[in-house]
Amino acid sequence: MIDCDIKTSWTQFLEFIENRCSSAEFENWIAPIRLVESSPEEVILEVPNIFVQEYLLDNFKEVLCNFLPLRGSGEPAIRFQIAEAVKSSSSASSPIESVEEPVLEVKLNHLYTFENFIEGPSNQFVKSAAFGVAARPGKSYNPLFIHGGVGLGKTHLLHSIGHYASEHHKKLRIQAITTEAFINDIVDHLRNKSIDKMKRFYRNLDILLVDDIQFLQNRLNFEEEFCNTFEALLNQNKQIVITSDKPPAQLKLSERMVARMEWGLVAHMGVPDLETRVAIIKHKSERRGLDIPNQIAFFIAEHIYNNVRQIEGAINRLCAHSRLMSATLNEDVVEKILSEMFQSSAPNKKISVEGILKSVAAVFEVRISELKGESRHKEIAQARQVAMYLAKEMINDSLMKIAASFGGKTHSTLLHAWKKITDQIQVNETLRRQVQMVRRNIES
Ligand code: ADP
Ligand code: MG
Repeated sequence: MIDCDIKTSWTQFLEFIENRCSSAEFENWIAPIRLVESSPEEVILEVPNIFVQEYLLDNFKEVLCNFLPLRGSGEPAIRFQIAEAVKSSSSASSPIESVEEPVLEVKLNHLYTFENFIEGPSNQFVKSAAFGVAARPGKSYNPLFIHGGVGLGKTHLLHSIGHYASEHHKKLRIQAITTEAFINDIVDHLRNKSIDKMKRFYRNLDILLVDDIQFLQNRLNFEEEFCNTFEALLNQNKQIVITSDKPPAQLKLSERMVARMEWGLVAHMGVPDLETRVAIIKHKSERRGLDIPNQIAFFIAEHIYNNVRQIEGAINRLCAHSRLMSATLNEDVVEKILSEMFQSSAPNKKISVEGILKSVAAVFEVRISELKGESRHKEIAQARQVAMYLAKEMINDSLMKIAASFGGKTHSTLLHAWKKITDQIQVNETLRRQVQMVRRNIES
């Protein structure tokens, strides 16, 4: 039942709002709201999705208080119904509960947060776009497409969105995935004849974060599935964020796919300038309990300029060094420790899996064929994992491709190896030295 006075108030509210927001905003966010029931105690509004509800409350709560009945707490007395949920269940209770499915476990790097992201002129724009999307998923830029060179923080920002959104919008279903993992997922589900299940899963997400879309190039069969998923989500105002090493138009993908990706906002992640690099060095070293004097921070920043990941590598080395020899850091010491790194940060030669296998085989005294084989013999398995670790660290190619070069291993085997060695070299000094030796061989 609709109370006449309230209906009038609601109409007045709409008129009031219409004059105060853009017509696009009104069309998208306000017009779809329907007054379902009302009494002097309470109003029931139907909204197409949770975003509209949030939008209304975030932006117009005070105004609503002036037009609609209030609860004892002073909040506007509104109950929301999500339109879809109304179709499937007759209950008109709390809209939050009508989104029943469990929230997904999101696999995000816990260090990749907005708080840990250092801003500078090169990344301010993309950072604020990312923040906007995380704060108001589906409401600002959709899709948000982030592109830029290797090691500049694209994945970091992508995961920051995931963290922020999952903290602030607890009910939203969020999935962060690399393009390769998505393709693997499709392959697995095709094999298990469960592709429909997978489609349902992705199409029911509220936020999809896709890393490294460049790996979709030349994978025609998968591109279509990607594109369909994107369209399904975009049509429902579900947020998509994509990262890539190139802007959409330079990717070898279908026109349809490129058009979808250009639909929202395309933002470039630039190379950080000197001051920003210094700030990153200070931030990262402080977190690790290492005090790097300003002068040294500038010294490092001047020498490593086009890749934040390399800056982190430098800090790792300095940390390891200062743990071993409690010497104070001066430019000479730093230069000595980092000299190889400074060289390798110059445009470097192409490193191949074969080159890595050769060096690993030499240092660990095993055969290349053993590295590519299946033997679980401890020494061989460890050498193999080191080779995989270095391949992931040193070669900028798809994990799947790299893994295939190891006698047809899968990308999860490679990731597992990488993680294991990453952990082991923190605690195993001998192994760390061996790995370093191989690295030096490869780079020389
Ligand atoms: P990309 O995905 O662009 O190759 P990543 O997001 O993996 O790069 O970043 C590489 C490393 O550099 C990560 O450890 C990340 O935390 C760090 N990094 C990059 N940019 C920044 C930044 N602006 N502030 C703090 N850390 C950063
Ligand atoms: Mg990345």
